[in-house]
Amino acid sequence: IEDLTHTFKGTQDIDVLDGLSITIRDGEFVTLLGPSGSGKSTIFNLIGGLIEPDQGDIFIDGKRVNGTRGNISYLPQQDSLLPWRTIEDNLVLVQEINGSVDRKRARKWLKRAGLGGYEDSYPNTLSGGMRQRVAFIRSLLSPQQLMLLDEPFGALDELTRLDMQDWLLKMWETDRRSVLFITHSIEEAIYMSDRILILSDKPAKIIKEIQVPFERPRHHDITLEDTFTK
Ligand code: ATP
Ligand code: MG
Repeated sequence: IEDLTHTFKGTQDIDVLDGLSITIRDGEFVTLLGPSGSGKSTIFNLIGGLIEPDQGDIFIDGKRVNGTRGNISYLPQQDSLLPWRTIEDNLVLVQEINGSVDRKRARKWLKRAGLGGYEDSYPNTLSGGMRQRVAFIRSLLSPQQLMLLDEPFGALDELTRLDMQDWLLKMWETDRRSVLFITHSIEEAIYMSDRILILSDKPAKIIKEIQVPFERPRHHDITLEDTFTK
């Protein structure tokens, strides 16, 4: 993203971005850390094409994609499951759009996330953390090279969170997708990322950039799959 500028107009204008530039390399895992309300989700909404910037450009693979739904797997911060579709039908939604539905894998991964047996349930019968895992699986099932994950594990208990972190890292090491990640946990940011960008409060500016320097184990060796039962 290049020189991105955005103001929300209202009774009081909110200057969320004022010339923000970020480049992420192919296959890189980059985390945004910053105060609540600083503009992180807005950056994702701009990259994801849900809103258009007042100024500046968004490029994917060198192609300008301002205001268009680019080739991106986006897990938004708010609950994004469709309430009228079952869990399994929510999971294959993006696949339906892309024309290759794999229900077997969707069911297998539901079980992997401790949600075996919930295929035919509706989102409003699941807890917040369960819905968050469904949305996470949905973005893993989407084939796009760029993933935007906005606090994907925020509602999870600590052990489930560790398991999901490892799952994401394992996928990432295999697929080498590019990941932009938002979290409020410094520990999670250090564990997951190649690079951490620390943002100031609005307008969001990069006040510090940390290349996570050390080789460290990127697995907790915790698998909860077998301990979950419906
Ligand atoms: P959090 O860590 O709490 O999720 P954030 O960094 O993701 O915060 P944003 O959701 O990007 O913050 O919001 C940044 C600012 O923009 C906030 O002041 C918010 O009130 C404002 N804002 C966000 N979306 C809109 C909108 N659709 N209309 C008006 N103002 C908005
Ligand atoms: Mg946010």
